[in-house]
Amino acid sequence: MKPFQAPLDDIYFILNHVVDAGRVDEFDAEFSREITEHFAAFAEGEIAPTDEIGDRVGAQLVDGRVKMPEAFHPMFKSYIEQGWTGLMLPEDFGGQGVDGITGGVVHEILMGANHSFQMLVSLAVGHNRVFQLFGTEAQRAKYIPPLAEGRWLGTMALTEPGAGSDLSRIRTRATKDGDVYRITGEKIFISGGDQDLSEGILHLVLARTGDMDSGIKGLSLFACQSVLDDGTRNAVQVTRIEEKMGLHAQPTCQLAFDAAEADLIGEEGQGLRAMFELMNHARVDVALQGVAHAARTYDVASAYAAERQQGRDKTGPVTLDKHGDVRRMLDEIDAIAMGARAMTHLTLVTLEKGDDPWLVELLTHVIKWYSSEVGLTAVQNGIQVLGGYGYLQEYRLEQTYRDLRIAAIYEGASGIHAMGVAGRLLRLENGAAMDAFVAWVKSVEGGGTLTNSLAAWEEARAHLERGAEPGEIATAFIRLTSRVLEQALWARMEAQADHHPDPARIRRVAALVRRQSARTQADLAEIKAA
Ligand SMILES: Cc1cc2nc3c(=O)[nH]c(=O)nc-3n(C[C@H](O)[C@H](O)[C@H](O)COP(=O)(O)OP(=O)(O)OC[C@H]3O[C@@H](n4cnc5c(N)ncnc54)[C@H](O)[C@@H]3O)c2cc1C
Repeated sequence: MKPFQAPLDDIYFILNHVVDAGRVDEFDAEFSREITEHFAAFAEGEIAPTDEIGDRVGAQLVDGRVKMPEAFHPMFKSYIEQGWTGLMLPEDFGGQGVDGITGGVVHEILMGANHSFQMLVSLAVGHNRVFQLFGTEAQRAKYIPPLAEGRWLGTMALTEPGAGSDLSRIRTRATKDGDVYRITGEKIFISGGDQDLSEGILHLVLARTGDMDSGIKGLSLFACQSVLDDGTRNAVQVTRIEEKMGLHAQPTCQLAFDAAEADLIGEEGQGLRAMFELMNHARVDVALQGVAHAARTYDVASAYAAERQQGRDKTGPVTLDKHGDVRRMLDEIDAIAMGARAMTHLTLVTLEKGDDPWLVELLTHVIKWYSSEVGLTAVQNGIQVLGGYGYLQEYRLEQTYRDLRIAAIYEGASGIHAMGVAGRLLRLENGAAMDAFVAWVKSVEGGGTLTNSLAAWEEARAHLERGAEPGEIATAFIRLTSRVLEQALWARMEAQADHHPDPARIRRVAALVRRQSARTQADLAEIKAA
């Protein structure tokens, strides 16, 4: 099995030469590189070795508490001692105030090393954002420092047995009791709902303060500590952890709240707005999960194919990567991994720059959809490259597949993101997000292929605007949107290839993406036929 190696050369190439992270004032390329290299060494040496153990042992529910695999404890201790929990949190509250681009790259490496662990430790960034936008000064002072120091880890508690994609069905209630609120109800599928790594857990809970039939308007957001200020446990019980296909070391918990003490964030009825701040951050993280798994797949599959001999040519026995079809699969994995990274880094950079919010709105849906759906195709191809060994546990691509599979479901299932583009954004503010996308694509020198693909996309947009029912063609439209984005970013990669340590690899994959560009016509035909 090939040990995890952070793809630093690919990351820097995209950040510095494809999405121009340097246009963000807070981003310092040298400083960012220093932090990332430091983290990569830690991730390769200490975090990645716990990934396989975590998959085998899993998180266990013992006497009503979740026990994490033993190997996670010393690794988590190093993680907090080195200050990684507070990396992106404000310095005023005990964090290090590092920019979101560098933080995103660190998260990408963390996901490649251990996806289950990443999910436990990365929500603090979204929590901080919620408190900055909706909390009081007293709440920021109370809740952010323990998150920055790693004394607490965070959760987001939305889902209930009857409320999955449709949060208007939430039944968990919060009632005022003097200075505090009391939460009663049941939440399911809560990632990191309990664990024995940190001293405490800060649940951000979406609960109903309005009438039962008040829909999303009756939802409010609460901070709910697992351990109260006086050291006693709050009335939040883990009633089960789920047996899952993957992410075995990520405790997916069912939680019972029995008049648990909680603190309202913002105002009553603002819950969904506040939660969306948290979710938008989490969606970029999910996109980075797809990037990390596709990149890991490329690393494993290309190394394997360069060593294993099967078949022969005129010169004698050849390795797998000399077969045209295997080369194609490797290049397709690379196209997806690098394409998804470029899309996600473009989103991070545009978000940090803050000058094109409509483009960010659109990109957030597209990267979440592309990295999870198409990212899985990359892993699928990787398993195929390894043949029978890909199907075995030995090379662990089967774990990669199992761990990544959920990404297309949580943080809004793929169909919801497809409708977010073909339904909501298409019409919002006269299609401002669509116009922002067109303007961005036109800013890229992509030649005739890109012009043709954009023309196909504009035709599809016009078809939807004329009133075509989006439901059944939304996926074709988000796929088409992602293809145009992918082609534009690969055109940039090709133009900048000489900045990459392996320019021939970049040019070869760019040529493959161009060859596949005609697929936009098939998407358009599917959309227009509906
Ligand atoms: C491992 C894991 C971790 C999770 N972590 C968390 C967590 O930390 N916190 C939390 O609150 N929840 C969490 N969840 C829950 C997750 O967010 C939900 O599973 C997800 O929102 C989908 O809800 P559901 O499972 O009820 O599916 P449903 O809502 O029943 O949807 C089923 C399918 O129907 C389709 N669908 C439904 N509605 C629409 C629509 N409006 N438009 C188009 N298609 C639609 C989609 O294809 C979807 O996949 C987690 C789940 C898992 C498995």
